[in-house]
Amino acid sequence: MTELLIRGGHVIDPAQGLDGVRDVAVRGGRIAAVGLDLPADGAAQVLDARGLLVTPGLIDIHTHIYEGVSHYGINPDATCLATGATTVVDAGSSGAQTFPGLRKYIIEVSQTRVLAYLNLSAMGMLSELAGELEDIRYADTRAALKTLEANRDVLLGIKVRMEPGMCGANGYQVLKLARETSDAAGLPLMIHIGDTFPPLPEILAETRAGDVVTHCYHDRPGGILDEAGRVLPAVRAAAARGVFFDVGHGRGSFAFQVARQALAQDFPPGTISTDLHIHNLHGPVFDLATTMSKFLHLGLTLPQVVDLTTRHPARSIRLENEIGTLRPGACADVTLLRLQEGPVQLTDAADKGRETVTAERALVPAGVVRAGRLIFFRNGHG
Ligand SMILES: [Zn+2]
Repeated sequence: MTELLIRGGHVIDPAQGLDGVRDVAVRGGRIAAVGLDLPADGAAQVLDARGLLVTPGLIDIHTHIYEGVSHYGINPDATCLATGATTVVDAGSSGAQTFPGLRKYIIEVSQTRVLAYLNLSAMGMLSELAGELEDIRYADTRAALKTLEANRDVLLGIKVRMEPGMCGANGYQVLKLARETSDAAGLPLMIHIGDTFPPLPEILAETRAGDVVTHCYHDRPGGILDEAGRVLPAVRAAAARGVFFDVGHGRGSFAFQVARQALAQDFPPGTISTDLHIHNLHGPVFDLATTMSKFLHLGLTLPQVVDLTTRHPARSIRLENEIGTLRPGACADVTLLRLQEGPVQLTDAADKGRETVTAERALVPAGVVRAGRLIFFRNGHG
């Protein structure tokens, strides 16, 4: 029996090449069918989605949800799931010594599907008072590897933040240890770039297909553009061999100007993510839908921004057969969005001074289904 029928919404599922009005039927927590005029079939719940967009559950591959432990931490259900992200990845808030708590108190009890990159630093990102790898003794590679091996169901790989503020003078050593640990586990690296040391081309030389470079459109020194504003050859080469360049908006890592220049040179992001945490939740990031709206404003199409928050991140976290699509048989994670017309102010997180643009439209969360269960729904018309 159909548990849930989402009726009459505009379905966008790039993984299936779908972009049009369809019904979506859910049975046993899985997508049962997507089609025109599906029978209600005694469905326990019918959602009138006319006027709304219906997409695969959105995936945010850069968040910080270790609430109460990391100084960045927010509650994933109250912030991410409640605004449309059904799957989130914690980007290195925990390390080998603090991951058991992330698993027990966050991952296992949240309705949001939570996965994580493990920080190379055994303590993770606990405090802003000191960088997590300024003292190289925190780079306990043996403990990190053991933790990765024991938690392969939820850990995706190793995270490192390659900046002097986090690594002190240990940049080269951190990069080497992170690469070795990742390779030993056979898992990718997520690398935070900023005012990077070692220089970005040297970092990229160590990356492989499947690795993620996050904060790709930041505007501090050491970014993806050269002084003339051209995308660095090393950046293009890395993207060409399968490295994901991820947005990771954050509070100081997304500049409209850099994104404009990159897009003008045909360098779109590999994934759109928020880097949502306590210091940007109340602006300028707010939620994934707002970050998607910024890319709509920059000229990407609606199917493109949905692709970059569903199919692409699902591939990046190697779950493309389970989520990131509404293909029958996939997990019934579904997001409903309203495309709100009318002027909306959107602010970036440029380091050189924030820029606010007036956008003609914005995506607003309107509903979420997680594993077949309705989490919330606000009808879009009326
Ligand atoms: Zn982050």
